[in-house]
Amino acid sequence: MPQHRYLLTEDRIPARWYNIAADLPTPMPPPLAPDGGPLQPDMMTPIFPMELILQEVSQERFIPIPDPVREMYALWRPTPLYRALNWERALGTDCRIFYKYEGVSPAGSHKPNTSVPQAYYNAQAGVKRLSTETGAGQWGSSLAMACQLYGLECKVYMVRVSYDAKPYRRLMMETWGGQCVASPSQETNAGRAILAEHPDSPGSLGIAISEAVEDAATREDTNYALGSVLNHVLLHQTVVGQEAVEQLRMAGAEPDVVIGCVGGGSNFAGISFPFLAEKFAGKDIQVIAAEPAACPSLTRGHYGYDFGDTAGMTPLLPMHTLGHSFVPPAIHSGGLRYHGMAPLVSHLVHTGLVEARAYSQVECFTEAVGFARAEGIIPAPEPSHAIRAVVEEVQRAKEEGKAKTILFNLCGHGNFDMAAYESHLTGQMVDLELPQDELDRAAAELSSMPAVG
Ligand SMILES: *Cc1c(COP(=O)(O)O)cnc(C)c1O
Repeated sequence: MPQHRYLLTEDRIPARWYNIAADLPTPMPPPLAPDGGPLQPDMMTPIFPMELILQEVSQERFIPIPDPVREMYALWRPTPLYRALNWERALGTDCRIFYKYEGVSPAGSHKPNTSVPQAYYNAQAGVKRLSTETGAGQWGSSLAMACQLYGLECKVYMVRVSYDAKPYRRLMMETWGGQCVASPSQETNAGRAILAEHPDSPGSLGIAISEAVEDAATREDTNYALGSVLNHVLLHQTVVGQEAVEQLRMAGAEPDVVIGCVGGGSNFAGISFPFLAEKFAGKDIQVIAAEPAACPSLTRGHYGYDFGDTAGMTPLLPMHTLGHSFVPPAIHSGGLRYHGMAPLVSHLVHTGLVEARAYSQVECFTEAVGFARAEGIIPAPEPSHAIRAVVEEVQRAKEEGKAKTILFNLCGHGNFDMAAYESHLTGQMVDLELPQDELDRAAAELSSMPAVG
């Protein structure tokens, strides 16, 4: 019988996270303080626990995963690796397609891989409450769950459009004991300032981050948690790729191509960094980051220093960005609507080790439906971009007369995203264009920022 599914036992949950910073062929540019000066680690102590700050700046190749975190990971890890045999047949390809499925976590995505260790380290440091932002609600729900597991309070600023459109994600947060408000809110200076100017603001991740950071910075009992972008978040996600390395070995396969979708870059980092380690060691592996054409930070953004939030409260990060005041069009992939990109992923694209591609939402949903009909699992809107990239690679392989082995990260299921599927299935979904003057405006905004050296 052909094998669909490759499973690992609990004792194979990785014992350490892989820190790609130790292996980069060219070093990363450092983050800067908001005023452009050097960033001192102690500037971060009002909002992050020391263990996470140390991980953020670590140059150690491997960082041990604490036993209590591995025990909590065992609620859903190791996750399965699938060979997409049915989808391969449906596509009529000789390529072998594998996918790592992160939708089996309680929250339905890869996000608990980092929410659990973040809540753990904060609880260890005596913190009582975490604040955060969420777009579509995947991160907010993942953090609410992790906070509940470690006895912390959780406050989530949820982007207004998603708050209105996705009540079930809010109810998940509340079921797990979290408190969720629509952002911009009346509860912070950042939120009130936006509402004074734009009472009907749909919100954005950048605005919600400003609110959550302000909340944490102004309360003694509260720290801030971010669901993507930062080095320590990407680090935690490497459990995904480490397991996939082992599972592909079980399948007797080595990938020619590794693909992930990118919003802030964390699930992509999770699947790809352990394979990039093999690429640095000389293996021929192509690594592709798939982003939405309506929020194309990697393919059309500017590479330079920018704020992570709208109000300019965070450190300046060296990254591909559309400008911190950019409010992305309301595509269905809420988790990919972020103006910037993880500095590590940006650096890898900038140095040519990772290739970036952009796809528009209709073509992505078309392929996601094809995938669901073949494999059963209904993908979240975000990984439909990775699925679209797989189909493009399958076509290229055919043109080149090669049969490749392709691995992608199916980072979440779409069971809460039926409104998006409805819009597609009823023919109402449209592609949202991003006018060039929006990009020019971003470039102008960034011209006053420090350049990457
Ligand atoms: C949050 C999220 C994303 C985008 O975030 P990354 O940090 O780029 O991974 C993508 N897919 C899903 C399912 C998400 O929940």
